[in-house]
Amino acid sequence: MVVESGRVVGIDLGTTFSTIAYVDAGGQVRTIANREGAPTTPSAVFIQPDRTVRVGQEALRARPEHPDRVATNFKRDMGEKYYREPIGGKEFSPEALSALVLKKLAADAARVLGTIGGAVITVPAYFGDARRKATQDAGRIASLEVMDIINEPTAAALANAFRQYLHAGGDTTKFELAAIATTAPSTTLVFDLGGGTFDVTIIRIEGEQFDVLATGGEVRLGGIDFDIRLVTAFCDEFVRRHGVDLRDSPEALAEIQSICEMAKITLSDRTQTVIVAERYGKRLHMPISRRQFEELTSDLLTRVQISVETLLEDALLSWDRIDDILLVGGSSRMPRVSEMLSRISGKKPNMDQAPDEIVAHGAAIHAAILHMHAQPTVSVAPDGSRRLGTPEVGTAPEPEVPPVPDLFDQSVVDAAKHVRITNVNSHGLGVIVRAPRENRLVNSVVIPKNTPLPTERVKVFGTEAVNQRIVRLRIVEGDLRDPRGCTQIGECVIRQLPKGLPKGSLVEVSFRYDPSGRIHVRAVELKHATVAEVDLVRAAGFAQVDLTRRRDAVSEIERE
Ligand code: AMP
Repeated sequence: MVVESGRVVGIDLGTTFSTIAYVDAGGQVRTIANREGAPTTPSAVFIQPDRTVRVGQEALRARPEHPDRVATNFKRDMGEKYYREPIGGKEFSPEALSALVLKKLAADAARVLGTIGGAVITVPAYFGDARRKATQDAGRIASLEVMDIINEPTAAALANAFRQYLHAGGDTTKFELAAIATTAPSTTLVFDLGGGTFDVTIIRIEGEQFDVLATGGEVRLGGIDFDIRLVTAFCDEFVRRHGVDLRDSPEALAEIQSICEMAKITLSDRTQTVIVAERYGKRLHMPISRRQFEELTSDLLTRVQISVETLLEDALLSWDRIDDILLVGGSSRMPRVSEMLSRISGKKPNMDQAPDEIVAHGAAIHAAILHMHAQPTVSVAPDGSRRLGTPEVGTAPEPEVPPVPDLFDQSVVDAAKHVRITNVNSHGLGVIVRAPRENRLVNSVVIPKNTPLPTERVKVFGTEAVNQRIVRLRIVEGDLRDPRGCTQIGECVIRQLPKGLPKGSLVEVSFRYDPSGRIHVRAVELKHATVAEVDLVRAAGFAQVDLTRRRDAVSEIERE
């Protein structure tokens, strides 16, 4: 994609906080503070009664008074096709709410940078296709030119590699990414515990190549779950003392949630704090120690630990093969997190960069690289004019071309062209077919989980009935053989097959994942080369489909 004009930015669209950054002309990565002067903006949207919108800290401040008009945590529902958040009597999709956050970030950045030409937006590596597409849609609704969607851990590893390069004495004005890669750790575990999601990813950096080896985590586990434990403890105590349940009032609950989140953050720095709230003329002053907080949340931390250990086992890696443990996400500031990781790994986790900004920084670096790849190479002629390609001696001078937008020094452009990033798919991708021996529907996985991207895989199936005229392939994400454990993400239909085809006629299905994780499907009936309408319809939330009465499915080919 060629960005027409304007600066390119990287955006970490977080569950609780979002951040925007860019790479300046000299190769320095900079976070852009919002209009209120803060580096991160709460992903919160307040729809006022007159339908005007407030985003960020202002929305959070309005929450205690207007809890039914303030939306938060909508990233968790991104890509859930039928989900709508009711706000003030109207319903909003997670994409629309995310678009409002993106608009605010872009508008605040434009005050500093001028026009925004394009943006890279990050998503948790755990996001499947529907959620990635929804994120892209949110960017488009916000009128942003979405250059790419990349995984948050990849972005963090890229920003970390850049920092290591600087630390080793690298020159920012040269931005030599080949050199950056050689000073970077070879295998990094990115531990990202944010506000609402938990992502753990192993990335190998070899030369200039960033490969995601494996991903894991939990889509619904983050700082908010730690807050809720404090809220529950406080409200239970309020009931015990005063006989009133604050959870019955949305206004009171919203206020307690904010107070408890502040208490949790304080406990990362201090060993003791106090939660105080007053409602209905009744007041509770509840001291809480870090140790008590850690006891209240110990099962959450155990879940985190199990995810990390399972990922290592799945990737067939031991801790001695991990060179760096990179802490990302505001919740990884909780001291218990570092302690647990140190204990199980025997290594000191790395929090050299602000965990709430590192992902946006990596996205900004990726945006800069994409922008440079899209630009023609420019050389400076002896007369000082800038030309396409290298001028040859003795030939007529090439017509002068307009200079590329002056975003980066030429040294930055040249160096960035060496970097490549690869991802893996975080979920298996398969087709629902009938298993002849079991005579039931199963998910036949075509591309297994953690396959490096881009990739293309082909599998052959047989038609289910004599004279079948149509083949309908239900495409799912998931690794389980039982379709109920998978998410249907689309359909691919071959229509108008010739009459009289025997049962078991061969249908070849090829799946192609592009480098950004989008999926393209093609199906061909092999005898007559009838090709499917290549159409991946977005549809999340798989209800079990009863195909038993249908005659348009396919079966697995029997194998000995
Ligand atoms: P992120 O979306 O990555 O910015 O993470 C936001 C989450 O980090 C929220 O749940 C915050 O409450 C939490 N958080 C931010 N700072 C701290 C801190 N110092 N200690 C504990 N949690 C924090």
